[in-house]
Amino acid sequence: MTAPRPLLRLAGTGAPDGWPAPGCPCASCALAAAAPRLPLDVHVGAARLPDHALAVGSERVVDGVRVARPAPGAWEATLPDGARLLLATADEVPPASRPAYEVVLLGDADAGLLAALRRSGAVSPSTQVVAVGLSHRHRPGDELERELAAMGVRALPDGALLDLDAPAAVPAPPRRTLVLGGARSGKSAVAERLLAAEPAVTYVATAAPRADDPEWDARVATHRARRPAEWRTEETYDLEPLLAADGPPLLVDCLSLWLTGVLDECGAWDDGPDALPRVRRRVDALAAAWRGTSRRVVAVSSEVGSGVVPGTPSGRLFRDELGRLNAAIAAESEQALHVVAGRVACL
Ligand SMILES: [Zn+2]
Repeated sequence: MTAPRPLLRLAGTGAPDGWPAPGCPCASCALAAAAPRLPLDVHVGAARLPDHALAVGSERVVDGVRVARPAPGAWEATLPDGARLLLATADEVPPASRPAYEVVLLGDADAGLLAALRRSGAVSPSTQVVAVGLSHRHRPGDELERELAAMGVRALPDGALLDLDAPAAVPAPPRRTLVLGGARSGKSAVAERLLAAEPAVTYVATAAPRADDPEWDARVATHRARRPAEWRTEETYDLEPLLAADGPPLLVDCLSLWLTGVLDECGAWDDGPDALPRVRRRVDALAAAWRGTSRRVVAVSSEVGSGVVPGTPSGRLFRDELGRLNAAIAAESEQALHVVAGRVACL
């Protein structure tokens, strides 16, 4: 008969200062007061993590649990039956590890770190990933849960026990998401965060840098600098072949520029209503490709219908057709988000 497994207990799941942080006046800390999280403290049987007394590169055995510290911000615990747990606390990738860990405790729900752990093989689809070391970088409640669900991660309250034999199901991230918002609402950043924990992403820019427009080039460069280096960028209006192909998740930014290109191609600015059947065939074809795709997809689009009625026929045409396009894509999406002032509402 084998000995029972040591208990895995999350005694504290907050940042080093806890959450709320003592004396912090921020809104996140005020909201977190209802369900406070103590400073990070993980019990693996008699061993406790993080173990700052353990030198980097060394290990010790505590009552049958082998604890190693492969990197300054990473601790690995190996149970007597061979099951392995990784605590990764910093934005720092521990050495590659195969096979994958049974459990990864992800410091501060860091999506970039999780993407790196997935690329290195340390995290596989069967790894239980639990967010710990949570801080006021997040907002508690629905917003944190939505962010974690997009990453395939869950959070547990202080005091929770982890069961290696019966891991709790993590809800699958929504496969198709439309992110709507006005100018400078933060919609692109929200869309990027949805996919930030993916090991690879194809970013589809629906506009190439414009010649002789330094302001536009600077905008494109800012967006590009914010994206992880591992993301591949395609600059194209031709979305249907990408949606039809297998591959890593797609982030399309943005559909309103795609529509501008389609209106150009269809001669809609000159032909007006005569061009509408051609435009709508293109929109319907895109919606059908969005419905049929097997990839995880996120599209960004502008929400322009709530301002004043545009003063020109072409402005009204664009507004009306964009509203129609957004509704068609939203109808074929598991999730639609509206970003207002950087905050996210689920539609
Ligand atoms: Zn705070």
